[in-house]
Amino acid sequence: MDLDLLRATLAQRGQPAFRAQQVWEWMARGASSYAQMTNLPEALRADLERSVPLSSLVLEREAVASDGTEKALFHTVDARPLEAVLMRYRGGAKHSASVPNPSRDGRRSVCLSSQSGCPLTCIFCATGSMAYARNLTASEILDQALHFRRKESSARHPASPSESQGAVPAPRIDHCVFMGMGEPLLNLDNVLAACERLPDIGIHPSSTMISTVGWIPGIDRLTDRDGPTIRLALSLHAPDDALRSELMPVNERYPLADVLDACRRWHEARRRRVYIEYLMLGGVNDRYEQAVALAALLTPRTAFKVNLIPYNPTGSAFEGSSRGAIDAFRSALEERGVPATVRLTRGRDIDAACGQLAAAGTVQRGDVLTRASERSSHRAGR
Ligand code: SAH
Repeated sequence: MDLDLLRATLAQRGQPAFRAQQVWEWMARGASSYAQMTNLPEALRADLERSVPLSSLVLEREAVASDGTEKALFHTVDARPLEAVLMRYRGGAKHSASVPNPSRDGRRSVCLSSQSGCPLTCIFCATGSMAYARNLTASEILDQALHFRRKESSARHPASPSESQGAVPAPRIDHCVFMGMGEPLLNLDNVLAACERLPDIGIHPSSTMISTVGWIPGIDRLTDRDGPTIRLALSLHAPDDALRSELMPVNERYPLADVLDACRRWHEARRRRVYIEYLMLGGVNDRYEQAVALAALLTPRTAFKVNLIPYNPTGSAFEGSSRGAIDAFRSALEERGVPATVRLTRGRDIDAACGQLAAAGTVQRGDVLTRASERSSHRAGR
């Protein structure tokens, strides 16, 4: 919802300022129509229905992957494409085994875009190869989360075996990552404005993560700002400047050593680990010596945690590292005291995985793809 338009419309109608907050509270709880907003006068609800669209985004297509990951392709009112993804992790505390398993904790994590397209040109990323349009507004960012909030609140889930009623309320969306299209630190004002409202939806700052290519002025702002700490992830992908510049031209502007210094300052101020994202490209950045070089960069050990990312095909010339190479790389890091995990890949069959978000009709694969107009017959949230 365009919150500025909402406020302006209410002011024009001589409505008290608290009405905007009332509408927002309904939206944050997953309302899908003004009719549901029963503490608003009926005439006002009908008026708003005509003058302030419930979303600033138009849903164009949606797709559900076999693992429950759901992608939505939207366009803005000026026809700029963007995508968002909901990752549904099954299970919950009741079902978890004695060994914690992130795929079974029942989490709902939304992956948001901060820009339509991306002005950076990382050569392995599908978004980097599409045209850059513009920064998204705070409302356009929030509307991605609200889209999934509405879907989850309308979905009913089968009860666990121990419950006798037919269905239980859907789990809340409780995590957010800015790992969709775009570079969030190039649109930081709007990203932070959106983050301020995410807690109303049920997503707390400590469960929100901003991922960056290493845009130092933005990292510094996150270090120095007042307000709660939002988690920080750095897309590193190479342990030396020569290779990193080849993969990510932004490295010419902000070289590795300077970016890591900015991350250390953030860690000092925020007392959280920086998540280092490292894409595993077969024969490119996955050799033993490269793991050793990466470990040498990541000091102090308490400041960093590595997340190794299996490469998702994007039509580039790269191939993903083998499972064996990923495991060996991880062991080499851990032997040197660098905590490292391997990211679960989700949504690959609908091109919703990291780096695969390229809109504008290029993503037509998979028989699970549905048109927005067919949505009513479509049951998500299993
Ligand atoms: N611009 C920010 C936010 C986008 S996040 C950033 O780069 O951090 C997208 C994440 O997915 C980044 O870590 C990115 O490097 C990674 N990624 C890009 N292409 C990928 C691919 N083909 N396979 C797996 N991960 C990819």
